[in-house]
Amino acid sequence: MPSPSSDMASLRKPEQAPQPEPNASYLTVDVEEYYHAEVFSGIVDRAARKKYPPHVERNTMELIRLFNDCNVRGTYFVLGTVAKKHPGLIRAILESGNEIASHGNDHRMITKMSPSEFREDVRRSKQILEDITGMAVLGYRAPTFSIVEKTEWAYEILLNEGFRYSSSVFPIRHDRYGWPGFGLFPRKMAVRGNRWIWEIPLSVERFGFINVPFGGGGYLRLYPMPLTKYFFRRMSRDDRPAVVYVHPWEIDRQHPRIAMPALKRMRHYLGISGMEEKVRDLLRSFRFGRMDDFIKCVPAAREKDIPALVGR
Ligand SMILES: [Zn+2]
Repeated sequence: MPSPSSDMASLRKPEQAPQPEPNASYLTVDVEEYYHAEVFSGIVDRAARKKYPPHVERNTMELIRLFNDCNVRGTYFVLGTVAKKHPGLIRAILESGNEIASHGNDHRMITKMSPSEFREDVRRSKQILEDITGMAVLGYRAPTFSIVEKTEWAYEILLNEGFRYSSSVFPIRHDRYGWPGFGLFPRKMAVRGNRWIWEIPLSVERFGFINVPFGGGGYLRLYPMPLTKYFFRRMSRDDRPAVVYVHPWEIDRQHPRIAMPALKRMRHYLGISGMEEKVRDLLRSFRFGRMDDFIKCVPAAREKDIPALVGR
């Protein structure tokens, strides 16, 4: 017979259920073909792309299976051109409980577009994705993390096009991208009264004056796992959401070999054979979720706790 006090405890349980919290870390995929990577610009030109075999569908299906195996859901930032060619793939991503977000239409860096070209690019990609899924697309990731200080104007356009968050800034110094002074926490951008768009920056850890990137792409492929896990633990200790990002081509053991200079070759191909295992290891070691959970769950109280959240 249960005692009256244990009955009371079970009655109280629903009231004490924890409030939803933002995920400790976000799992993201940039859904593109290998030849969309910036390293191929000037090597595979746009007109020649159709000569190269498409691999995105098979590799993305592999990632969906991997995430399902680990019982983790994430956000897939999809190119409009890829979605148009593979609508079944977009439905498969969605049916596994993942979020569909936009990676722009054709992988053009914002730094190489005018504001009106950018508006057209994101509008087209959002429309293609929403026509396939029947759901609003809330998130955006710039190709090659190309929201930098001089393209900050992009937030106003994203907000007006109906996006609620972006994950496009890498707060580091880098030859192709980076906004080193952005700060390490999510921030409200293009704030107009009670309207704004969140930027959830890619993950860095600060050592003295240097921001060290980690958690995705070449950084995840090249760093030893104990170092990556150390960075993730530091982020969680500081209550900052960590962001993992992976491209379908990064787990492709049959990635076509395309001639390019040695440094570019190293950046692009190194670590592909071990990437899938690294992602699996991370998914089993930390708690991950979809990025739209951030805008659903971020408690208002956190804004005054984190000065960087207040904007500039
Ligand atoms: Zn990309």
